[in-house]
Amino acid sequence: MNIQNLIRPSILKLKPYASARDEFKDFEKSMTFLDANENPFETGLNRYPDPQQSALKWRLSTIKKCNPNQLLLGNGSDEVLDLIFRTFCEPEKDNIILLPPTYGMYEVLANLNNIETIKIPLHTDFQPNVSDILKTLNSNSKILFLCSPNNPTANSFKAESIEILLQKFKGIVVIDEAYIDFSEQESWSSRLAEFPNLIVIQTLSKAYGLAGIRLGMGMASPEIINVLNRIKPPYNINQLTQNTALNKLENLELVTNQIKLIKDERIRVLSAIQNINFVKKRYPSDANFILVQVDDANRRYQQLIENELVVRNRTKEPLCENCLRFTIGTPNENTKLLTALKSLI
Ligand SMILES: *Cc1c(COP(=O)(O)O)cnc(C)c1O
Repeated sequence: MNIQNLIRPSILKLKPYASARDEFKDFEKSMTFLDANENPFETGLNRYPDPQQSALKWRLSTIKKCNPNQLLLGNGSDEVLDLIFRTFCEPEKDNIILLPPTYGMYEVLANLNNIETIKIPLHTDFQPNVSDILKTLNSNSKILFLCSPNNPTANSFKAESIEILLQKFKGIVVIDEAYIDFSEQESWSSRLAEFPNLIVIQTLSKAYGLAGIRLGMGMASPEIINVLNRIKPPYNINQLTQNTALNKLENLELVTNQIKLIKDERIRVLSAIQNINFVKKRYPSDANFILVQVDDANRRYQQLIENELVVRNRTKEPLCENCLRFTIGTPNENTKLLTALKSLI
């Protein structure tokens, strides 16, 4: 498989912007830096941040068991996704493949980049329709997006299906693992060496409790990471974000404990919800949210608002008629949700 052939010609030719810190990156203490037009008075933030985020990548690569050169960091995973579109998809020519219902951002980014979207709905058990996907894609299909665990359906895709798609699809396969830390499945990042067309996306926005700092990551072969790195904005991860992430990653025990608590609460909420008479169906969850089908989603959503509870109404999504999505909160928040649900008539 030749990845170079999938990259847009204009991107292959592009000469990246060389920042001051790219040209001279030897952070020797004795050096006096008069090259970047910064304010020289020290505040801890007066200097531009490391454009390659070396310290943070080093730490993340040990946690994620990959090499730092297999990592790209973005201002949220949304920036990583946007860079992937701009690297591989030629506007008005190429297309991407989506499996609805899924995360809405893929289609927004496709539209923003003027890329056609081909939609192949999931089966009713929310698993990919592998044969339809393989039948429908064409020579301009550049990226297949697999969100696993999937938002909003909360399930993981079967490993056998993902593996077939990775082998048969001759474009880039993006596996969005925003919820992998709540899942029983292993991350596909351990299989990068086997699949040169694989990009795994993860984020610190969910399990790590850092949605506010905007830090997402892409994991792929050094060849793919290299191209994405060349086109990213030079200083895309600001100093405050790098500092906060490094701090948080020092104490993983806190994160691990919170994940365990959220998973326990997921069991409790799913179990209690079966006694609510207007709940028609509960779907199994491999994420930090659950999808529930009720009698009338619009009405129940409004009633919950009146009880000062904001959930997500997914009734307009394909296969999600009358479905609400509940994020698993703190034990108190979940009890408040369950009490409110019981009181509704
Ligand atoms: C929440 C979420 C993300 C996270 O996006 P960030 O930009 O990293 O906050 C990515 N993908 C999916 C499917 C999500 O649900």
